[in-house]
Amino acid sequence: MSAPVIVWFRQDLRLSDNPALHAAAATGAPVFPVFVLDDDAAGDWKPGSASRWWLRKSLASLDQSLGGTLRLLYGEAGRIIPELAIETGAQAVFWNRCVEPWRVERDADIKSTLLARDIEVHTSNGSYVYDPAEIRKQDGTPYRVFTPFYRKGCLENGPEPRAPLPAPIDLQLDRDLDEAHRQSDSALTAYSWFDGGTREWEPGEAGAQRTLERFIERGLDDYAEGRDRPDRENVSYLSPHLHFGELSPHQARTAVLEQRGRVPDDSIDKFLAELGWRDFSAHLLLQAPDLPERNLQKKFDRFPWLADKDVCKAWETGNTGYPIVDAGMRELWRTGYMHNRVRMIAASFLVKNLLQDWRHGERWFWNSLLDADLANNAASWQWVAGCGADAAPYFRIFNPVTQGKKFDPAGDYVRRHVPEIANLPDKFVHCPWEAPDDALREAGVELGKTYPAPIVNLAKSRQRALDAYATLS
Ligand code: FAD
Repeated sequence: MSAPVIVWFRQDLRLSDNPALHAAAATGAPVFPVFVLDDDAAGDWKPGSASRWWLRKSLASLDQSLGGTLRLLYGEAGRIIPELAIETGAQAVFWNRCVEPWRVERDADIKSTLLARDIEVHTSNGSYVYDPAEIRKQDGTPYRVFTPFYRKGCLENGPEPRAPLPAPIDLQLDRDLDEAHRQSDSALTAYSWFDGGTREWEPGEAGAQRTLERFIERGLDDYAEGRDRPDRENVSYLSPHLHFGELSPHQARTAVLEQRGRVPDDSIDKFLAELGWRDFSAHLLLQAPDLPERNLQKKFDRFPWLADKDVCKAWETGNTGYPIVDAGMRELWRTGYMHNRVRMIAASFLVKNLLQDWRHGERWFWNSLLDADLANNAASWQWVAGCGADAAPYFRIFNPVTQGKKFDPAGDYVRRHVPEIANLPDKFVHCPWEAPDDALREAGVELGKTYPAPIVNLAKSRQRALDAYATLS
């Protein structure tokens, strides 16, 4: 029997279109699949509560697809992977690259250790349509702005994205399962506050494929416009599946492109551009490893954030008195997900109307989102806060009432998540404080008792934000 090859699964919990697994299978050697939960190396950015719920289920699903051969280990991957390679006599280790700074650094060390032992290392891009490490301007520098990154760097000058690879049919799995190489998943079960929430999620590769099919059948047609409407079902809900790599972006891209002719081009192109934003966020994180902690625009280091625990608590629990913000924050708490338009509104409200540091919101999202992703989360928070590379200018402040009326015109989304104001007429559902007393009474709403009065005045808090911003110039 030839020496085995190790496949180190990380954010690629799937068998199909998995370049590392594919290349390992092609060697014909027995494949030894392993996953290491390395909380110490991740430090502050170890998976949060909601992510752990997902990860546990996703690993169980992968293990089943691998016929129960997945080695699940906890601890320092920097020690475990080389030890495992030596112990099993592995000839090579295969993995798909990630972009988190702590992983990039650790993986480089592991690679050197293995190579020094004459163990081959093969790494691939399995997680991005365009390899975020390779897209460069003509002068060799990285991009800071999305549109040229995507149009010039990726679409015009990038390599043609590969067609998805099939799952290996001739996979020889190393079935000699030593119990020492398999630990219980208790480190993941310990985090049980989130019990799947109220949305039906299906972690795992099969669930990801079904979610993609459902989106193509029901959401994609009107995606270009409907993606901004939290009251509609036009978005894909693929983000946790993509984050954990149960589905590759190539698979999503190819499936959507196959709909050309049936589905309007603008919907197809818009969806592909969102995958482009995903690549761009990874590209930013690779060039600015402190993106999750430090303002990309250094002038924001002097920004006079307030640190008010009470307003943060009201925001976290969906009790700000602004229905669209509260609906989003409650959707997040109950389902582990928040619609993109509402993420932007809720985040803007925190950093502008409440003047709280974006890093507070970033942390809260990190712990509560099933799709929590270091690159997407950090880049998006910096974008909303105005301190990012290609950010919305700070002085452009979302008005949560106008946004609510525009993107949830009949108030269906707000009513779903904030039931205590569900009986208000449409006209007042985004601004209950404007409702006359009899309308409030008839709807059973008592502001300040059954539903909070607005936590800040919109006009005044807007001016306060602009004044704070003016101190930077
Ligand atoms: P769809 O509209 O169906 O989009 C398809 C895919 O494209 C998504 O699954 C996602 O992978 C990618 N995508 C879409 N929008 C963006 C974007 N703006 N930036 C990067 N990729 C995008 N996304 C995360 O995956 N993880 C996060 O932690 C995260 N945090 C965010 C925090 C804030 C403050 C904001 C404003 C946005 C954040 N996003 C994050 C981006 C976006 O909101 C989600 O990717 C999207 O809502 C996921 O839902 P979907 O899969 O139904 O999206």
